Amino acid sequence: MTAAVPRQRPRVRDELAGLEPYGAPQLDVPVRLNTNETPYPVPRGVLDDLADAVRDLDQLHRYPDREALALRAALAARAGHPVEGVWAANGSNELLQQLLQAYGGPGRSCLVIEPTYAMHSLIARATGTGVTAALHPRREPLSPARAAELVAGAAADVTFCCSPNNPTGETLGPDVLAAVCAAAPGLVVVDEAYGEFGGADAAGLLPGTPNLVVTRTFSKAFRLAGLRLGYLLADPAVVDGLRLVRLPYHLSASTQAIGLRALAHAPALTDHLAATAAERERVAAALARIPGVEVLPSQANFLAFAVPAPPRAVWQGLLDRGVLVRDISSWPTLERHLRVTVGTPAEDDAFLAALEAVLG
Ligand code: PMP
Repeated sequence: MTAAVPRQRPRVRDELAGLEPYGAPQLDVPVRLNTNETPYPVPRGVLDDLADAVRDLDQLHRYPDREALALRAALAARAGHPVEGVWAANGSNELLQQLLQAYGGPGRSCLVIEPTYAMHSLIARATGTGVTAALHPRREPLSPARAAELVAGAAADVTFCCSPNNPTGETLGPDVLAAVCAAAPGLVVVDEAYGEFGGADAAGLLPGTPNLVVTRTFSKAFRLAGLRLGYLLADPAVVDGLRLVRLPYHLSASTQAIGLRALAHAPALTDHLAATAAERERVAAALARIPGVEVLPSQANFLAFAVPAPPRAVWQGLLDRGVLVRDISSWPTLERHLRVTVGTPAEDDAFLAALEAVLG
């Protein structure tokens, strides 16, 4: 008999040891306003057409088009951008990962301006990219000169801008973004996951700005978070870099087919935008009327607000009343804040009533 060899538990890389998996809690409660999806389901007629697109996949025994050309051509036509500069992946998170794999990585760094979307720095860590975090209180608008100063000082290989910014909701104007692109020595990634909700359009800067990348998603305004599809617009040379790191056939045939068919239904899928903006303003005004509550102005489909009590306790109180929001109080400068997604009017009324009861 051979002696048993003592086995050691496998250990993750040192940079990952001690990290918590990222992700908002997925709890089965009546009112879920914590992950910024659109609250309205895809209309039945559109779902039926998407199902037809899947039914027509008679080549499912073959690998899908590695280049996702039909989908990218449709996205390019919609954006008015050359198809060679359009790329698609499984949600914009996968795009961010591919960008960091190709343009970040060991020995390179990225800049994030906190408080902002946590996945930018988390994916950076997971890809071995160094993270420089600058702090900018989101109550004060970022001027082009200040933005350029931050970006030039950090001299990062990848600079992230989120517009509208998650979790605070404000957009960065084209003057700020132009200053950032001019000052950045490397790639500038403008994350427009919430772009359709409010005046963000960094894509206007793309011609003549070869270091700019604009990432977008089907998960928010497009009502298709379950699909996992995102796309980016960039200089074709940037897309060439992504081909070096993407897994072969990363985008499934069904994702490509549904995404392509969904684009034909863009007007129906996004017909809630005006109502969502009006509802956001209604909720913001109602929040502002609650004593001690302060709301940050938002162009997105969510609102960050400060509460006059320990935020974790308020979060729990809301949850006890069946309303799930996001606790963002561990984000820098947001120590008193929670974030709520704009829901249906009924969901928002339930949230407001629960909050008044909790703050009682
Ligand atoms: N960017 C921002 C700013 C987000 O808030 C999110 C989702 N919460 C994403 C990107 C990723 O979205 P997805 O992967 O669903 O496209």
